[in-house]
Amino acid sequence: MDIICRERTCVYNKGFSCSKRKILIGEKINCTDYEKKTDLKDIDDTSQRIFGKEPPKYHAHRESKKGCIHCQADCLFRNEQTCEANGITVNKLNGKPLCVTYFKE
Ligand code: SF4
Ligand code: SF4
Repeated sequence: MDIICRERTCVYNKGFSCSKRKILIGEKINCTDYEKKTDLKDIDDTSQRIFGKEPPKYHAHRESKKGCIHCQADCLFRNEQTCEANGITVNKLNGKPLCVTYFKE
């Protein structure tokens, strides 16, 4: 289970990968574990220069059997309170970190 995340202002975001192994995605597909960093000076949206001469550094894929995503959304990948997707992508949309792997049940 890998969690790719574009919300780089979160304390758990390490090179576009979530280092928190247990998260809760809420009813409105929002990541409820988002915690804003106090020091934001080194953060820029490096995904804008992904095809440039100096592409951003990404964290290696974090496959983890210990990872666990609890979820409250009405999604096809949810079984009871747990996400059963192989991994998810969280994108920053309208200023909020949202699970874009969501597929309405
Ligand atoms: S917003 Fe959520 S998924 Fe993204 S790094 Fe933070 S805790 Fe992880
Ligand atoms: S893929 Fe679906 S079940 Fe998994 S966290 Fe996202 S919304 Fe929840």
